[in-house]
Amino acid sequence: MSNRAPRNDGSGLSAAQIDALRGKIKGKVIVKGEAPDDVYRPLLQRWNRMHIKEANIIVLVESEEDVSETIKFVAEHHLDVAICAGGHTYSGPSSGRGLVIDLRNMRKVSIDIGKKVAVAQGGCKAVDVEKAAEDFKMRAVFGAVNDTGCGGITTGGGFGNLSGQYGLVCDNLVAARVALADGRVVAASETENSDLFWGIRGGGSNFGLVTEFTYKLHDCDHDVFFGVYLFGPDKTEQVLDLFNVLHQDYVLKSNGKFGVVGVFSAMGPVIVPAFAVYYDGSEEEAQKYIQPLLDLGPMAPPGHPIGGKMMRHSATTDFAHMAAMFPPEFSRIAGSSTQVDFPVSKDVLKKTLEVFQAKIAKYPQNLHVSKLLFDLRDCSKIASVPSDATAYAGRRTGLLIAADLMWDDPKLDGEILLEARDLIATVRQAIKDSNEQTGIADVGAHVGATTLYALISDGEEKLVSVFGKNLPRMKRLKAKYDPNVMWDKWYPVEPDHEAV
Ligand SMILES: Cc1cc2nc3c(=O)[nH]c(=O)nc-3n(C[C@H](O)[C@H](O)[C@H](O)COP(=O)(O)OP(=O)(O)OC[C@H]3O[C@@H](n4cnc5c(N)ncnc54)[C@H](O)[C@@H]3O)c2cc1C
Repeated sequence: MSNRAPRNDGSGLSAAQIDALRGKIKGKVIVKGEAPDDVYRPLLQRWNRMHIKEANIIVLVESEEDVSETIKFVAEHHLDVAICAGGHTYSGPSSGRGLVIDLRNMRKVSIDIGKKVAVAQGGCKAVDVEKAAEDFKMRAVFGAVNDTGCGGITTGGGFGNLSGQYGLVCDNLVAARVALADGRVVAASETENSDLFWGIRGGGSNFGLVTEFTYKLHDCDHDVFFGVYLFGPDKTEQVLDLFNVLHQDYVLKSNGKFGVVGVFSAMGPVIVPAFAVYYDGSEEEAQKYIQPLLDLGPMAPPGHPIGGKMMRHSATTDFAHMAAMFPPEFSRIAGSSTQVDFPVSKDVLKKTLEVFQAKIAKYPQNLHVSKLLFDLRDCSKIASVPSDATAYAGRRTGLLIAADLMWDDPKLDGEILLEARDLIATVRQAIKDSNEQTGIADVGAHVGATTLYALISDGEEKLVSVFGKNLPRMKRLKAKYDPNVMWDKWYPVEPDHEAV
């Protein structure tokens, strides 16, 4: 157990102390009770409204120097601190009651065409980098939705439709500048502070605040094929039967270019299956990959034609596509995830769907827009990097199963979080039972890869489940870079002071 003094929320700071910070930075310092509500409240908004917290101080930093001075202020007053970039996390680590370093005004990007890199300020959203790169016929690797902050998705690992070809978001990071807990800003790369560089690729904000990311870019001069194929609930069994076939015979034979995710959406009491598909190539080539879906007889979504079409990569990650999946009647979300190796037993898939259905049926008025995702994309490129090469430990080639339980009533927060945990615990048990029956060893466990995806989790998973065999090294690094645990919001590890 830690015997550190608790951090304070800054409510006791005097006006003179706050003014001293204002005098040192260019950005604005917004103080609860002092700033008008229409200025203060919008700054508290987060994608998951379950995690809106009334911070006492919000610092709208504008530069690396602002970040550095703010961190020194946090250290001097031993304040509770959170970092907010895109504010998109499921589990709420970008909110706090003390001081929030808000990076929304640090969104500059520059492209170096010769080196094929993008240099992005720490508050950029994925859309900023994606679009800047596309202007030069290049691509940057991010997730499914480009409204997410680079900060969270890069430091947490991150993957999307380009990961089959280019690996994790953090695998495409070539350098960074990191503000440490004492306010110093240092460079991190394979050649400078390489231990820190290891830690910020999957270790989240455990070691500092990244003020600048340098990303590798990839040449690209063509559009991609993207769309959703929706099926009647009567086709559920056939959809499940396609999973192993699609993965083995189509996804793995596409050189990482074809990605497909099975999505089961609650539409009221009915669970509707669909496949979201992405192909990095022409429509003609895409046809051969989507043939099994066409053979199954997809339906046209209301107001839309059946299936996909060609578009820019950045159009596929536009939040507009996802907006329909997150309708206004939800505001709170509990994410949970686990992985299972291919080929996946039908029993595991059926059990997963069954437990998801049972949760929806238990809360028919509340969970009626929830989702269950089966990510069939090719993770070979991700898993080709050893799981101790970066702090990110979840490098395996299995099927990621992720549940998004979504509701609107704050009174249900605690209860539904428990339901989400129970859901994924049941799925994990089904995987374990199935492995025992078939004699399949849990391959991931042998290579030290973990089975959950921390960016789709509620923040309460055990540290060893997130960092696997990398946890001891994380603890040693914590002692070096954040010995007093200033950064304590996203899976904070305890410093191993003995080892330093
Ligand atoms: C609709 C939706 C779709 C998603 N799809 C995908 C997907 O396809 N693939 C995927 O991998 N993930 C996906 N995610 C998860 C997403 O990557 C995470 O929620 C991520 O943390 C969001 O980053 P953010 O900067 O917006 O979050 P924030 O809430 O602002 O921050 C999250 C965490 O990152 C830390 N952080 C933020 N900026 C910095 C920084 N500059 N330096 C150090 N630490 C920092 C914060 O301290 C906090 O702990 C999705 C999330 C949503 C809501």
